[in-house]
Amino acid sequence: MRRRLCAGNWKMNGTAASLAEIETLTRTHPTPQVDLLLCPPATLLAQASALAVGYPLTIGAQDCHQAASGAHTGDISAPMIADTGASAVLLGHSERRENHHETSDLIAEKVTSAWVAGLTAVVCLGETLAQREAAQALEVIADQLDTSLPDGATGANTVIAYEPVWAIGTGHTPTDAQIAEVHDFLRRRLTDRLGGDTADAIRLLYGGSVKPANAAEIFAISNVDGALVGGASLKATEFAAIMEALENAS
Ligand code: PEP
Repeated sequence: MRRRLCAGNWKMNGTAASLAEIETLTRTHPTPQVDLLLCPPATLLAQASALAVGYPLTIGAQDCHQAASGAHTGDISAPMIADTGASAVLLGHSERRENHHETSDLIAEKVTSAWVAGLTAVVCLGETLAQREAAQALEVIADQLDTSLPDGATGANTVIAYEPVWAIGTGHTPTDAQIAEVHDFLRRRLTDRLGGDTADAIRLLYGGSVKPANAAEIFAISNVDGALVGGASLKATEFAAIMEALENAS
């Protein structure tokens, strides 16, 4: 049985003062019934990891370089992330794919690097609006999944986040049927590649404008094992409300 996962991506938001949100979360919800992951900016990883000690919250980074070390000014490697106490990393977020021209081949290298460093890779994928309107969503997602995910994925080292680009930060979400179609498709494709037991252990998150108001409906959809939450993860009260909806999902 997959444990459900509520994940938050702070993106390029947050300074030391924002760590109070983590303290609020741990104080107000001492015994969460689902797994929690928060990905603050790299500047806060060590402090966030220290705050999470003794509380069932995983801290993750938002990207890593594919190499373990070297002449890559401004980049951060997977071993460096592990060194902060963090144990996960988002890879292939659409903002990285778009703003930094990251390809699925590059993302696969990053995933391997993350695994070698002992990090769980949260591999993000999803179609643009133009691709959905051209009825290419499943084709794009299949290619992103196949190429971004190296051999060796397990339920312990990998989470997949389906994030339609047009739903991120827009307030628009796909219909329940559209989310179900993609998540069922992802599960089948993972099963074909990895076999049923391994595929069944990999959590599939939905991401894109998840809010307290729509979380329960999304969590009732087949093969949705949780959410990757952007904007609504910045405030402990909103993130906790989404977490509670996941706890109450059947
Ligand atoms: C995200 O960036 O991963 C995301 C899902 O953002 P938002 O929840 O703000 O749409």
